Amino acid sequence: MKVSVSDIQSYVRKRLFLGLLAGSLLAVGLISFALWYLIFKPGQSLMNQLLVLVLAFFLGISVLVAGLGMAGMLVALLTSKRLAFLQTPIRIAINVFFPVIIALGRLLKIDVDRIKRSFIEVNNQMVRVTRFRLRPEQVLLLVPHCLQRTQCPHKITVEINNCHRCGGCCIGDILEVRDRYGINVGVATGGTLARKYVKDYRPRAVVAVACERDLTSGIQDSIPLPVLGVTNDRPFGPCHNTRIDPAKVEEALNFFIGGKGDSGHKDHKIQRQGYSASGLKGC
Ligand code: SF4
Repeated sequence: MKVSVSDIQSYVRKRLFLGLLAGSLLAVGLISFALWYLIFKPGQSLMNQLLVLVLAFFLGISVLVAGLGMAGMLVALLTSKRLAFLQTPIRIAINVFFPVIIALGRLLKIDVDRIKRSFIEVNNQMVRVTRFRLRPEQVLLLVPHCLQRTQCPHKITVEINNCHRCGGCCIGDILEVRDRYGINVGVATGGTLARKYVKDYRPRAVVAVACERDLTSGIQDSIPLPVLGVTNDRPFGPCHNTRIDPAKVEEALNFFIGGKGDSGHKDHKIQRQGYSASGLKGC
């Protein structure tokens, strides 16, 4: 089996989120254990004992359920098998323990964006465990409005077709991908608008482009809807003339719709070889 450098990097990135999840479960488990000890400490009022008992019980249960969720994630990541009965524990592990994971990461002085990138990698691989053959209109591509060139006078958040495809930013490329694949596209200014697009289009799967922070919250909000996250590049700082690699977006779309719209893909990539060059000439 051929293992590439990006495979190894991806493996290392995924380990960070899973390691912090394991650490969080251990920390909360120890707190729960300590609370059980407090209940039986002499001199406690009955009310105190009851309150501590309830807290220890809920913490203990959440650790057990999230532990099952973590097992489900490991099974999916290591064997590419999706165990349906572990999907709820996985959701609990992600949604309930995410703040604990971030707090633990901060305590260990780990960059929050690194943790979120790791989570996005874990999520993407878990989504890829299932095989999809969706129609293009069942897939929604969500992109952030910060892809639009700041000097552009055209209002695209309400109507993306207002873009004149001048080549000044990535929005023209997104429209080209939309037309070639026949997918739905939404330009979101934040979580509220992103949720509205999901409600309006009712997609079976989403390809979301955003920064680590928005992708993480978007993926969590959308569960159980499968979302493949693609992080944007921010050569001019956050929320300002951001960019994407169209090839990564197309790869994610092809995963859901099975290569439809793939024609011209090579030309498309060649056309954008200057992607990482400085300036604002397209993606
Ligand atoms: S491609 Fe040109 S017209 Fe379209 S949003 Fe970007 S800058 Fe504006």
